[in-house]
Amino acid sequence: MGNSYVGAKQTTLEQSVVMTGVGVHSGAPVSITLHPADAHSGINFLVVSDGRDVEIQAHCDFIENLTLCTVLGSDCGAEVATVEHLMSALRGLSIDNVMVEIDNGEVPIMDGSAMPFVRAIEEAGIAELDAPRRFIKILKPIRVEEDGCWGELLPYNGFRIEVEIDFETPAIGRQKFSSDMNPGIFREELARARTFGFMADVEGLWAAGRALGASLENTVAIDNDTVINREGLRFEDEFVRHKALDAVGDLALAGSPLLCSYKSYRGGHALNAKAIKTLLADSDAWTYVDVPSVPATVTEHHNEGRGAALLAAANYAADRN
Ligand SMILES: [Zn+2]
Repeated sequence: MGNSYVGAKQTTLEQSVVMTGVGVHSGAPVSITLHPADAHSGINFLVVSDGRDVEIQAHCDFIENLTLCTVLGSDCGAEVATVEHLMSALRGLSIDNVMVEIDNGEVPIMDGSAMPFVRAIEEAGIAELDAPRRFIKILKPIRVEEDGCWGELLPYNGFRIEVEIDFETPAIGRQKFSSDMNPGIFREELARARTFGFMADVEGLWAAGRALGASLENTVAIDNDTVINREGLRFEDEFVRHKALDAVGDLALAGSPLLCSYKSYRGGHALNAKAIKTLLADSDAWTYVDVPSVPATVTEHHNEGRGAALLAAANYAADRN
């Protein structure tokens, strides 16, 4: 799998693509359409609320709720739920601008991983736009903590994820995933990792009318320290890979791709969101870096005077797979 679409220019889709499935929380059928969008527009959700169209920007300023999944909302009460795996696929494949039209309030859960979204994006095709990609470059470390969990955003010439989890159940235990991220690595190492849950929790949620669409078709379920899905796991350490997939999607709510290394210990959506919000609230901690529209090799050899930020961006653009 080549990485030709990780470059200095912004991307969108070549054409629209439709996906259908069920909402993991509503259990209701839902259809989404990913549409091409203009440069600098970012990822936006188009939902119908009270009979009119409302756009909700995929940005951490619009996070409404993180209890069971990531819910984004607008001032007028419109909401879109379970955006995290779609956001992960878009960021993972370096897609900057897409309008996501959604007919029923929740992104479908599909198989619980990001792979169905990856396939849909690849089916639509990826188009380069005539605008430089804009990164958020981390200038100083940001650390957040919560109940023995922590997350750190560190300056880095690229985009790297280091996630560690530690569960009591021997079905998961202690697992760590560390890797630089680019579309090839995302697709091969993370995209297929499914969400997971514990049967004891699921039964409680069902009783409360939540997680109505959750099933063994879209969740790795653990009961009495055993994975009960008949097909077993897709990776021996599928759990931590899914946590890394979630982190890619949660960090995408910064609104622009990051030049950073993100480390987390026992993290989840809430911790990841807190890290991004803390970063963006500290204007000394980051800056925007545009990537000039020249090939990385030219940048490296002939523009040395233009600074480390530019080299960092070029480094990120290099095909490392
Ligand atoms: Zn997830």
